[in-house]
Amino acid sequence: MTIRTHILGFPRIGAARELKSALESHWRGDVSEAALEAVGQQLRARHWAQQRDAGLACVTVGDFAFYDQVASHIQLLGCEPARFGFDAAQSPLSRYFTMARGAGSDADHAGCCHGRHAHDASGHALEMSKWFDTNYHYLVPEFSPLTRFSLACERLFDEVAEAQALGHEVKAALIGPLTFLWLGKEKTAGGSEFHRLALLEQLLPVYGALLDRLKRQGVAWVQLDEPILGLDLPNAWRSAFESTYWQLNQVGINILLATYFSPLEENLSLTCRLPVAGLHVDGIRAPHELISVTDWLPAHKVLSIGIVDGRNIWRTDLDAALAVLRPLAARRNGQLWLAPSCSLLHVPFSLEAETDLDGDIKSWLAFATEKLAELALLKDVLAGHPDDAALAALAVSRRAIAGRRASPRVHRAPVAQRLQALSPTADRRDSGFPLRQAVQHARLQLPHFPTTTIGSFPQTPAIRAARASHHRGDLPAAEYQRQMRAEIAHAVERQEALGLDVLVHGEAERNDMVEYFGEQLDGCVSTRHGWVQSYGSRCVKPPVIYGDVQRPAAMTVAWTVHAQSLTHKPMKGMLTGPVTILQWSFVRDDQPRATTALQIALAIRDEVQDLETAGIGIIQIDEPAIREGLPLRRGQWDAYLAWATRAFRIAASVAQDATQIHTHMCYAEFNDILPQIAAMDADVITLETSRSDMQLLAGFGAFQYPNEIGPGVYDIHSPRIPATADMVKLLQKASTVIPPANLWVNPDCGLKTRGWAETEAALRNMVEAARQMRAA
Ligand code: GLN
Ligand code: ZN
Repeated sequence: MTIRTHILGFPRIGAARELKSALESHWRGDVSEAALEAVGQQLRARHWAQQRDAGLACVTVGDFAFYDQVASHIQLLGCEPARFGFDAAQSPLSRYFTMARGAGSDADHAGCCHGRHAHDASGHALEMSKWFDTNYHYLVPEFSPLTRFSLACERLFDEVAEAQALGHEVKAALIGPLTFLWLGKEKTAGGSEFHRLALLEQLLPVYGALLDRLKRQGVAWVQLDEPILGLDLPNAWRSAFESTYWQLNQVGINILLATYFSPLEENLSLTCRLPVAGLHVDGIRAPHELISVTDWLPAHKVLSIGIVDGRNIWRTDLDAALAVLRPLAARRNGQLWLAPSCSLLHVPFSLEAETDLDGDIKSWLAFATEKLAELALLKDVLAGHPDDAALAALAVSRRAIAGRRASPRVHRAPVAQRLQALSPTADRRDSGFPLRQAVQHARLQLPHFPTTTIGSFPQTPAIRAARASHHRGDLPAAEYQRQMRAEIAHAVERQEALGLDVLVHGEAERNDMVEYFGEQLDGCVSTRHGWVQSYGSRCVKPPVIYGDVQRPAAMTVAWTVHAQSLTHKPMKGMLTGPVTILQWSFVRDDQPRATTALQIALAIRDEVQDLETAGIGIIQIDEPAIREGLPLRRGQWDAYLAWATRAFRIAASVAQDATQIHTHMCYAEFNDILPQIAAMDADVITLETSRSDMQLLAGFGAFQYPNEIGPGVYDIHSPRIPATADMVKLLQKASTVIPPANLWVNPDCGLKTRGWAETEAALRNMVEAARQMRAA
């Protein structure tokens, strides 16, 4: 048997987020380019050494990036958009950061919505978009008929040389040409007809030159990532694959075509036939295709199986993995490469730092470093010569897997019973919307064009300092509570002064809209250092949902009741919805996601009930992540949307008719899922629309969205103070497609990333805009 191991990519942020600190110091001007480069070099050296020590056949080079691998690729291929007007004197690294962060901007992209937004008023940073169905954001390449490609950057070749100088066997990893074009957007002046696929012909010779350079450097294998092979591809894209890889194969370097995140389905035989030396497939997301791939892929090609989950943090069940691998190895004459399913970019660095984590739970997990060890172990056992240490490790692993399976902390009978006992109408409100609307209007007595905000108010340095100090144990709970209650009082006071109609408590006590709930729910834990890069220097620390979820006690009621006690205006309770909690967490893999979503929904349902009982008349359940949860394949959308929207309704529907349920979503692409959004049946939905100039509302109008809508009238991601007249214009536009009686007036999203001065100025104008609409 010849079993080899490799990885598709490694987290680059560093064990202690060294890259983050170095980047932020550099942007502040405290660390020179050379010093930043040195940090990068150290991290790479360390990570390659780890790969070698884990017995990988080669180290992976090309996965490192100072901001984003797609941005690096743009630079490598010399297609920096001309609009930046870079001059030759500017260093490549400073051009790179300008593309990523905008010219002349000191602020990084606002961190709301988990950093989805790439816009800063002062700059024209490249837009950001989610990397397939992950929470990683890449910078979107811009293509026009004038785009030209060339090998414009030495960085990749330097890194290859760097690894070779350290004595490593190198596999270079790059985004494949078709995926690269796919990820970009056409930017043409005056709407001229142009499709980015037309650039392929020009792009391929540059890829050819790139592969040739690598070959001359002595690189034996190049991994070209083409995850779009797991998407519903238009025909033009599908048919481009054959000629593309035929041409690239002429270079005479071994190409490992890497696919991941999604089954290949109708692209399977095409993929297996492509003239490349090897193929990587995702055995976690598409285990059912492994046998077909094994059979379709010609015997002389290398087959790499993604057998360790690169998207989640659970320890691999090695026996189950071996049971999958053994027949495959037999069919491939004992020749197999083993790898994580995708780049390890999407999991935290190492469990070693988790010294506070509960021992049982820790034993169930594997972060990137531990996944390297799992690969080594799988190789040894599969190849049939495990030594004593390997056998001992296997025994430890088996015990942990068995322990997790049987743990009473994972399975809570009452939760399962409650799910089972849910009545078929548990996801329906008592009455239909028109009746609820009448009851709510009578109760709330709001003016036309009611004004509100999305929930959070500025997270000031004082708030953050208090939380950090409380976390460290320096600030006693009672004192922390007192300070947060004062912050809430302060937010209420300012909202009253501004004349807003529906107030919020401001979320001062929340670190993050998901983590806050994750910390309080049974079945979830927070890690100490489980950071995953989101984009640039930004990382998120997703909660780990390891067991049946339930709510041991009310999570938001005391804060909300305190806030309501300070005002006669309605106070809007603020919750995060089940789909968003699920989407922004590491989710258990031993039951369907739909089941976990329903369990969370029940916990939120209890909170809705308690808020209502405490006299709160308006409750917002944020679901900004519903859309990003959509499966990569359209064929699976309906099933997902059915359980996701049901989970929301389960959470919301316990409310009585007189309680007004809001939801919030911060994005503007709705038109393809409008019926399902409507089926969530929130009384009010607030959305992001200001940046698309209310375009989105055309869809809502045409669809005749039945309930009330608050189309965001200004962009909170920009420090610019919106003018009253602009907001009036947007509202007038909205009034032409939405019945004015159903319109709310609010910003695009929460205000936690902004300062108070700009927030107050913006809201003052917004309240004035609503007043003018009422007068008209
Ligand atoms: N209520 C949250 C806030 O205002 C919503 C944030 C979001 O949608 N991302 O911060
Ligand atoms: Zn939002």
